[in-house]
Amino acid sequence: MSHVIGLAHVGIAVRSLEESIPVWVRAFGFRHTDTIQFDSMKLRIAFLRAGESEMELLEPTAADSPVGRFLSKRGEGIHHLSFHVTDLEEALEEAEAAGLELIDRSPREGSHRTKIAFLSPRTLNGVLVELCQRREP
Ligand code: ZN
Repeated sequence: MSHVIGLAHVGIAVRSLEESIPVWVRAFGFRHTDTIQFDSMKLRIAFLRAGESEMELLEPTAADSPVGRFLSKRGEGIHHLSFHVTDLEEALEEAEAAGLELIDRSPREGSHRTKIAFLSPRTLNGVLVELCQRREP
């Protein structure tokens, strides 16, 4: 049985990293630890950290991308929740057995030495959920 062992991060869709990062840093003291370009998803991701809490600010680099379409449909806001799991393959099998709709049938490469997979919001109260497993160092 693979359990969720904690919240990994909250992903927030934003129009501009340059405008958004300073707001969270100034208001709450988040540290901006990194920004990466994710070409396969047409996305730039800024990582913000405060204590145990982590956020990803997601800025699309093209309108015809998953986050670009999210922004034009729903505007800025919470895009996904990411939970740490101990065993991602097992967690996906169990999620499917529990009747959840998978977006990724097998893990894909995440940032910062993680593997990730997404579950559809359709069977999770409208929330896009990412499961995340840390790779051994
Ligand atoms: Zn994420």
